[in-house]
Order: sequence, then structure tokens, then C-alpha cells
Amino acid sequence: MNGAGETFDLTRAGAVALDGADELAPFRGRFVIAEPELLYLDGNSLGRLPGATVPRLRDVVEREWGERLIRTWNEGWYTLSRRLGEKLASLIGAGADEVIVADSTTVNLHKLTLAALAAQPGRSQIITDDLNFPSDMYVFQGTGAELTVVPSPDGVSGPEDGILEAIDEETALVSLSHVTYKSGYLYDLGPITRRAHEAGALVLWDLSHSVGAVPIDLGGHAVDLAVGCTYKYLNGGPGAPAFLYVRRDWQERLRNPIPGWFSQRRQFELGMDYDPSSGIGRFLTGTPPVLSLAAIEPGLDLMREAGLERLRAKSVRQTEYLIALWEAWLAPLGFRLNTPRQPDRRGSHVALGHPEAGRIDQALIEEMGVLPDFRRPDNLRLGVAPLYTRYVDLFEAMARLRRVMVEGVYARYPGELPAVT
Ligand SMILES: *Cc1c(COP(=O)(O)O)cnc(C)c1O
Repeated sequence: MNGAGETFDLTRAGAVALDGADELAPFRGRFVIAEPELLYLDGNSLGRLPGATVPRLRDVVEREWGERLIRTWNEGWYTLSRRLGEKLASLIGAGADEVIVADSTTVNLHKLTLAALAAQPGRSQIITDDLNFPSDMYVFQGTGAELTVVPSPDGVSGPEDGILEAIDEETALVSLSHVTYKSGYLYDLGPITRRAHEAGALVLWDLSHSVGAVPIDLGGHAVDLAVGCTYKYLNGGPGAPAFLYVRRDWQERLRNPIPGWFSQRRQFELGMDYDPSSGIGRFLTGTPPVLSLAAIEPGLDLMREAGLERLRAKSVRQTEYLIALWEAWLAPLGFRLNTPRQPDRRGSHVALGHPEAGRIDQALIEEMGVLPDFRRPDNLRLGVAPLYTRYVDLFEAMARLRRVMVEGVYARYPGELPAVT
């Protein structure tokens, strides 16, 4: 794979040369870069604002809402969830009629988890791992199903063998994050999906940390169900609605556990008895947040224009580069690599472990012009968003991180963290 095992020139000139040879470099100019000096390494948590989103939102507010008023429901809003789903489908190897955008990731996960359980009478078990995102765990716990949490062997790698062994004829659903949020471990969709199907179980992959960073082939693996975020690598904006995917041959067989008038067959006949739509629209509930939905489209267009194969190649090379800098500069200062070394087992961020990671994160943000994030107990997460992250950003951020350690800058910070880290 590109970049694997590459020997990098770890000077600033080396980083400048890598940027000079980067065919995706011009995409950075398509984003709002309000503070050119800020080293933003949190695109895995909140993607940057695409330039085209600004006039798009102005138009939605001033013309579509302000002038056209309720008429815009028939001039684009009513079909927006579906239209965005069609665009997003091409990024995840799904059919255009298998994806829809509405509600949050957590709510979509809740809908599809309950739908899967209801479709599996006589089976009561959900299998996941202990690297999964807390909200996902809360959803599973809320179902009342028997939950089997397979532990990671080292807190970094997904317990693939343990999961394969745990799946049996009791299993209703296997649900995992495709890329884990803390360590960035990337599961291979194939073996677990195959094993689940052999045992008669369904799979539900959470693509929040892989969509837009890793090519995904849901159709090729016959994945049953998936959900994911649009505000991370897809740059849809804070709180942007999420997507859900239901494989075509499941759409008529599953029941939406949160029915509402947006999934009613002839919605505006306003019948008093629920008659669910056929197709992916069956998984909608109520009126979508149109302003937030509209903000998603420019980011999807940029992704599709850049192409996921090229984005993935750059992302792998950039995380390899970060790991090379870690090894040369930070491993000797007590940082562990809390992300898989093997590029084909890694998403698009690198987690560095240090007992003082919380205070180090504060020092980077407060006086070093670097924005990474901190994930308890000891992870500093450095996200690479290949549409706009430059090699020189990575070089500078790691150089400043080294300074924070060598000069003991972090020691001035109290370790009490703000509400959102
Ligand atoms: C970011 C993320 C979410 C976020 O869920 P929301 O409902 O949007 O808050 C859920 N699951 C995973 C795996 C995530 O990474």
C-alpha cells in the first residue's frame, strides 16, 4: 500500500517537498481557512467548512426560506434526504436506493439495531467490542438484548478472532465501528460479515470514522445495515444529520421502530393508520432539519471529485509520516503509539499515548496553535483529513509537540479539562 515502509525526509524541506508532489493539494483551497497559522488536526471530529457551503447556506436561508417559504418543500427540500443519500451511496459501495440522510448517528443506530433484533426471533444476543464508541454501547444496552462485549487484546487492535469465535446461532446482530474512534483500528468488513451470515446473524457497521477516509464496499460484502456521521471526514457541519444504509433485500422485511409521517406511504393523504413506505424511505421518521441537511451537499461533492482511492492513498502516506515522526522524536520522550502500525489496519488518525496527554493537549491548544484532541485516559488524537491537511502541518504540529515536552510547557496546565475535548 502507498507509503507503507517509506523512508521519509524528516526535515521541514522534506515536508514541503511532499506537499509539492501532492496532487490533492489544491483541494485545500476549496475550504475556508480562517486562521492560516492554526494547525487543525481534528478533522476526524469536526471537518472544516467547505467554501461552497457558505453561499449554499445563504441561499437556503435568504431565498429558499426567506422568499420561497413553504413552496420550497416541493422545490427540493422534500427529496433532500434521499438525494443526499444517493450521493453518499457512491462513497460506501451502496446502491443509490439503499442510503438516506436524516436524524443523528445515534438515533439511526437505535432504529436499525431494534429493527434487526425484531427480525431475528429466537435470537437475543448482540456482539460488539470494547473499542466501540460510548453512544453505540448505550444504544445496545438500551435494547435489553444480551450484550457480549469482546475485549481488545491490547486496547488498540480490534479483537477480530474473538468476535469470529463468539458468533453463533444465538447471535442476532454483530455491530462494530469500522474504524474505532480512539485507536483508529480499521476492521476488515469481509471476515466478520461472512461469519455472521453463516451463523444467520445480521451485521451493522458504524462507518462514522471511516466514511470519507477509507474506500468502503458495503455491496461487495453484502453488508446488511450501516450508519455513519456526516460531520467528520464528510465536512457536513456541526450536528449535521447522519446516514443510514439498509441493503435492498432487507428494506421490505424490516420494521422502522420509530415510525412517523415521513415514512408513511402516502404521507399527505394524512391517513390515521400507519402504512409504511416501501424502500429506504421506510426508515425516516419526522421532518428533517433542512438547514443542516443542506450544508452536507458541498462536502459530498468535494469528496466525490477528489476520489476515495486518491484520498486513502494520501491518508495512509500521511499517517505513515506521522508515525515516522513519532518514532524519531516522540517515542524517546515517552509517547506510545496507540494506533496500529500496519497501514491496512488503520483509519485516518494516529493516537499517541502519554500519561500527561490531557495537559499536553491543553498546552498545544492554548499556546502552540495546534488543535488535536484528547480522548481519555491518555490519548492525544491527531486526525489527518487528506482533502486539506498538509505534510507541513503534520511536521509543524509534531515539532511543537516535541517542544511542549522538551520545555515542559504542559506542566503549567492544571489538567482540568473543558466540557468538550
Ligand atoms: C462520532 C460518532 C458517533 C456520533 O453520534 P451522534 O449521534 O452524531 O452524536 C456515533 N458513533 C461513532 C462510532 C462515532 O464515531
